Amino acid sequence: MNTVSITDTTASDATVAMADRAMKMMRRLFPLCRSITGDGLRQTLRILAETVPQMQMIEIPSGTQVFDWTIPREWAIRDAYLADASGMRIVDFQKSNLHVVGYSVPVDRSMSFDELQQHLHSLPRLPDAIPYRTSYYKENWGFCMTQKQRDLLDPHATYHAFIDSELFCGSLSIGEARLPGDSGHEYLISTYCCHPSLANDNLSGPVVTALLYSQLAKRKLRHSYRFVFVPETIGAIAYCALYPEEVRGMTGGFVVTSCGGPGPIGMKESFVGDHLVDRAVRLALRDAGITPVIYPFVPDGSDERQYSSPGFRLPVTTISKDKYYEYDYYHTSLDNLDFVRGESLAGSIQLYLNAIEILENNRIVISLNPNCEAQLGRRGLYPQTGGALNPTKEEHGIIKNEVDVITWVLFLADGQQDLLSISERSGIPFPHVVAVTRKLHQHGLLEYIQDNAFE
Ligand code: ZN
Repeated sequence: MNTVSITDTTASDATVAMADRAMKMMRRLFPLCRSITGDGLRQTLRILAETVPQMQMIEIPSGTQVFDWTIPREWAIRDAYLADASGMRIVDFQKSNLHVVGYSVPVDRSMSFDELQQHLHSLPRLPDAIPYRTSYYKENWGFCMTQKQRDLLDPHATYHAFIDSELFCGSLSIGEARLPGDSGHEYLISTYCCHPSLANDNLSGPVVTALLYSQLAKRKLRHSYRFVFVPETIGAIAYCALYPEEVRGMTGGFVVTSCGGPGPIGMKESFVGDHLVDRAVRLALRDAGITPVIYPFVPDGSDERQYSSPGFRLPVTTISKDKYYEYDYYHTSLDNLDFVRGESLAGSIQLYLNAIEILENNRIVISLNPNCEAQLGRRGLYPQTGGALNPTKEEHGIIKNEVDVITWVLFLADGQQDLLSISERSGIPFPHVVAVTRKLHQHGLLEYIQDNAFE
């Protein structure tokens, strides 16, 4: 039987190092002008590939039919500005890539204030924020600006709109990396990387996913994990169209997004609600002492909309820290590098790792001594001095009263329950259940009746 190490959830030097590493990646990736296609996306994938060296790049040509959708033309942008009659730039793409509506078609002409209005976007509720806007599937152009900048425009003036962009037959880029195990079960870990300079939604997703890969790549894995870096929606649809049978054959998955903010930890449930991936995430959160904000499944959100659609029905969950839609700075320039926290990113990586540890170590167990209690003392499993039920030190130094754990595990090991259920039912942290189960197995008191608990 393969076992994997149990990770702990306490702050440590490793956590601090991970937080630093995550923020370094964030800072490097943040300035790039990403979209659902184009060089910003490719460059992002190349930088992520430094952390995910096995990443394969997949390019799907513009015009390719993917189920009900068509891969759009590739978008390139070199420069853009809105200038007044004197030529002074009021908004400038070089200062923030959020100033241009994503997928804007080229424009280079002067126009009245009134004509310009229909191409401007601002947020009265956040007057210092530039909103993030796109127009992928309808040809349009526009500028996004702060409400304060917009309020300074003169209704009687003429303005010059300039966008040096191009839409051409190119391709849509996807990054993919696989970590193989031999259980026959594969889990999807999908993230999107199509937003320009926006930190929590969405750079936190690809950064956490890449670092999750780097951690899992170090160890022997029982299950297989497939890491997919796509532009949101169209990329996930394209991926499903490329590998329909493989996606259908997966056991469950995670969509990693908006997990680096300062706010509350949340969990978006899968459409099943109590699938193994839901239970693993809930248990990882419970064991970390976290009561998450629960977001029950709705067919709105991120790429679970594709992976869980009727043709695929893959149960997918998300761990969030400031979930998309839920925070004030969502899809604005204030979702920047000051908003995300290294420790939030490191914490999200750890929670995903702990949930995966649960999947990795979960097995059905059966007691080999089912008729009444086993005599633990005879096997050296019970303190020999009467009344001396002092905390015992286990291999991880975390088991407070081993006899309690032994009793629960042997009581519940009826061949119907897996270690995940035993941990849920007993309230004992999953790593303790695993460690004690291993010990009981060594003492011949129980058997793993099935290598895989959910076949
Ligand atoms: Zn978004």
